[in-house]
Amino acid sequence: MNKTESLNLDKAKVDEVRRLLNDNDNIVITCHLTPDGDAIGSTLALCHLLRSMGKKAKVVTPDVPPKNLYGVPGAKEIMPFTRFETQVKSLFAEAGLICCLDFNAAKRVDRLAPLLVDADCPKILIDHHLFPENFADVVISHPESSSTCFLLYQVIVAMGWADRISRRVAECIYTGMMTDTGNFTYNSNDPELYMVIADLVKRGIDKDRIYSMVCNSNSVSRLQLNGYAVSEKLRVFPEHRAALISLTQDELNRYHYERGDTESLVNVPLSVPDMVYSVFLREEAAYIKVSCRSRGEFPVNKMCEEHFNGGGHKNAAGGEFFGTMDQAIAKFESILDQYDKYLPNANNNKDGKVS
Ligand code: 5GP
Ligand code: MN
Repeated sequence: MNKTESLNLDKAKVDEVRRLLNDNDNIVITCHLTPDGDAIGSTLALCHLLRSMGKKAKVVTPDVPPKNLYGVPGAKEIMPFTRFETQVKSLFAEAGLICCLDFNAAKRVDRLAPLLVDADCPKILIDHHLFPENFADVVISHPESSSTCFLLYQVIVAMGWADRISRRVAECIYTGMMTDTGNFTYNSNDPELYMVIADLVKRGIDKDRIYSMVCNSNSVSRLQLNGYAVSEKLRVFPEHRAALISLTQDELNRYHYERGDTESLVNVPLSVPDMVYSVFLREEAAYIKVSCRSRGEFPVNKMCEEHFNGGGHKNAAGGEFFGTMDQAIAKFESILDQYDKYLPNANNNKDGKVS
C-alpha cells in the first residue's frame, strides 16, 4: 500500500471510537439534511455493522432521503425527523452514543441540531468536509477523503473489524464511494479507492446493479425538464467561460418538478471543455436557490459567499438570492467581470495576488 495516498488515521482516535462503539448498545446514527448517497451509504453501513454485533442501532435523517436511494439496504427503515418527530426525539433522549456521519457542523442537521447538541451522551463524528466544528467528543475528519464511506471503510478496518463487512455493509459503502466521486470521475485518483472496490466486490456486491439503481432513476417528466432547461434556458457567456441555467416555479410546475429532479443539471454545462463554471438558479417559494460548479482553481464558493448568502467548496457551492428571478440573473451578469481574474490563463497580477 502506498502510504502517501491512503488516509493517515489517528490511531488513538480510532481506538476511542472502537471503545465507544463497543461500550454502547443503543446507538443513533445521523447525517446531513437532504442526504445524498454518501450520507445514506455511510450511516446504513455503520448501522448494519453495529446490528451484526447485537446492538440496537437506528439511522435518523433530518428529512426524507431521495427515492433513488431507497434500494440501499435498510433505507426504508430510516427515520426522517420530518416524518417521525416524536419517535426521533425519544431515540435521541435514550441514545447511549450518537454517531454523526458525512457532515461537519451541527446546523447541517437542520431541525435535529438542538437534539444533537443537547444530548448528554458521547458523540462521534466521522466526516470528510472541510473545517469540522467541535460538537463531538471524537472527531475523525479527513477532507482529503473523496467520501465518508471510503473513510468509514478505513476506520472499520483500522478497528480490526474487517470481518464484519458483510455484503450489505459493502453495498452501502460502495454507494457513497460511487456517488461522491461522480461514479469515479472526480476526486478519484487515489489508487487505494480501487483496492477498496476490489475488496467490496470480493464481498459480493454487484457494483453494476448499484450504479443502475442509483443513477438510472429518471422519470419521463424529469428527463423532459432537464432537456427543456438545456435546450431553452442555457445561456453561455463565452468571454467569461460561464454558463447559466435558470428555472422559474412556472417552468418547474410545467414538468411536475419534485425535489431532486434538477440534482445534476448544474454539472451539464461543464461537459463542454471550454466552460470553467456553471450556475443554476431555481426559484423556490421564498428565494432563488443558487447552485454552482466549477473546474480547476475557479472558486465558486467565493462568488456564493460574496453575492449569494452562501458558501461551500471551491468547485461546488451554493447560496440563496432574495428577490425575483430577473433580479438574480441581473445580479449574476453584473458580477461576471469581477471573477475573470480566476479564469485559467487570466492575468492574475492585474489585481494583485489571487488568494
Ligand atoms: P448544491 O449545489 O449541491 O446544492 O450544493 C453544493 C455545495 O454547496 C454543498 O455541498 C454545500 O457545501 C454548499 N452549499 C449549497 N447551498 C448552500 C447555502 O445555501 N449556503 C452555504 N453556506 N453553502 C451551500
Ligand atoms: Mn460526502
